[in-house]
Amino acid sequence: MPLHTEPVGSLPRPRKLQEAFAAYDAGTIKYEDLVREQDAACLDSIRRMEATGSPIVSDGEQRVSSFATYPLADTLSGTGVADHLALDGQYFAIFTDGHHRQLPRLTGGPFRYRTYASQYVEKAMKMATKPLKQAVIAPSMLALLYPLDGEVPGYTREAFHEDLVNECEKDIRQAFKAGAKRVSIDFTEGRLACRNDPKNPWTGRKMLPGFIALNNRVLDRFTAVERKNIGIHTCPGGDCDSTHSADVDYKELLPSMFQMNAGYFLIQLASEKDKERVYKMIGENLRKDAKGVKQVALIGVINPQSPRVETPEEVCADIMLASKYIPVDQLGATDDCGFSPFSIDVKPKHPSPDVARDIAFEKIGNRIRGAAMASDRLGV
Ligand SMILES: [Zn+2]
Repeated sequence: MPLHTEPVGSLPRPRKLQEAFAAYDAGTIKYEDLVREQDAACLDSIRRMEATGSPIVSDGEQRVSSFATYPLADTLSGTGVADHLALDGQYFAIFTDGHHRQLPRLTGGPFRYRTYASQYVEKAMKMATKPLKQAVIAPSMLALLYPLDGEVPGYTREAFHEDLVNECEKDIRQAFKAGAKRVSIDFTEGRLACRNDPKNPWTGRKMLPGFIALNNRVLDRFTAVERKNIGIHTCPGGDCDSTHSADVDYKELLPSMFQMNAGYFLIQLASEKDKERVYKMIGENLRKDAKGVKQVALIGVINPQSPRVETPEEVCADIMLASKYIPVDQLGATDDCGFSPFSIDVKPKHPSPDVARDIAFEKIGNRIRGAAMASDRLGV
């Protein structure tokens, strides 16, 4: 069987769709008008991703406010926000270009998702002819909705965590039930948790072990057979062509990360300075038996923040080098991150969001070709 290759999930939203999100926030178009643009963008995303030859596709996350906030609100400005949430929560991340993204703040319980990822899968299933993947948000990210210190009146942190674990499990189960073949959990906060940035207090609280334990509470509710198709995505952030934690050494994260009992990992690597060192680290820490499942590492071979299109030969070379350290039956390829995890993103290093979409499909196509070349050379 050739090396597995799959996307992280998101694609830049067409300019027209980004304008529709803004118009919906401003109250100048109706919800149905926004949905019509989302439908068109999802269909275009699926058709073009299928045309790259990708064995598994996504809807490009064209409907979501962001990879982290889709369960909570319809838009990034908070239109349609879920119950018991105020819009003045802590910064999830401060990026190197100076911009930040903020989370809502929990004001009471019980905590319930307003939207589950399965609602996107149901719609995408009607459009796709190839297997679909769906990304969901990690409980460790949503744990940051609870204020860092003190207690929400009438709703303990423990009670919130129990509700959160239940909702995340439901999100994943429903996505599979709706037809997703693979579900990956976005875990960008993992690397950021090692950053210790005084401007962003939660990153200095040594929260990584708690994140790993919380995520395992969800993963451990699934059988080994189910977890084979449940992944974890790590990256140093990818928003407006900027990162939030690229300066954190992978040695702070990877040994703990592979303690999560997921079946596969989507790992940013194309934009990493010393790839070989990280391949080696992955080989040393990837588990052959994570509670009954052999973990697979999909290494990042495409940088979604750069408009330069990697060649199939470059992709193949990365995979061949990684195969020196990672067993071939535990190796695959992916993109470093989604191409636009947040709905409003003009992709500033690109000529426009629409051109960034064209470039994304070229890059995905070359990942598929490069992975096929490596599979040939490795005889798999
Ligand atoms: Zn990412």
